[in-house]
Amino acid sequence: MIATARPNAVATSASEMPAATTANPPVPATAMLSNDLIMPTTVPSKPIKYVVNSHHHFDHSGGLRAYAAEGVTIVTHEINRPYFERAVANTWNLGSDRLAKSKKKPVFQTMGDNMVLTDGTRSVELYQIVGNAHHDGLIMAYLRKEKLLIEADAYTPGPAGAEPPKVPNPFSVNLEANVRRLNLEVDRILPIHGRIVPYGELLAAIGKTPAPAK
Ligand SMILES: [Zn+2]
Repeated sequence: MIATARPNAVATSASEMPAATTANPPVPATAMLSNDLIMPTTVPSKPIKYVVNSHHHFDHSGGLRAYAAEGVTIVTHEINRPYFERAVANTWNLGSDRLAKSKKKPVFQTMGDNMVLTDGTRSVELYQIVGNAHHDGLIMAYLRKEKLLIEADAYTPGPAGAEPPKVPNPFSVNLEANVRRLNLEVDRILPIHGRIVPYGELLAAIGKTPAPAK
């Protein structure tokens, strides 16, 4: 099961498995969105065990404290660890948020080039988008069975039917290069910002093939 909470946060579910990922600005809204995702209605009867932080930009990390308060493990690239360790060591003086009230210590699990979250039945493959100028520790998720790629900020599709950009976005060019590097077969892209699209729209956006049939 894949659930999206408003746009911009994605939850995946396996038999007893994880959930995840990042959200949209501003930070207070992100924290609210996290609270919504944590509500059992999003993934009924499945505890959230992991939240995957695609990168540390504020609109993708603003809700993490709410997950940490629930004891959810935060998965992030290893280069983000020093930043988050400093961030969670900060005191919280302007009213107590969920984490401050819980008095829990956030749990991080960091990765390098790749990592697999699995319950033995279903898997979520995580890969670093290597060499992407948007952020050094950018992580994407791949659901092999569904041939679905979930990514943030490397490619944000334009409005439906819009012409591809005249100058390809270098972040998107790099994303496609990473898909080839990893030999991933992708049918669709679920961006954290924007609408789900066929993979052909990324190719069209970077001038690699004609736009897909509408
Ligand atoms: Zn970003």
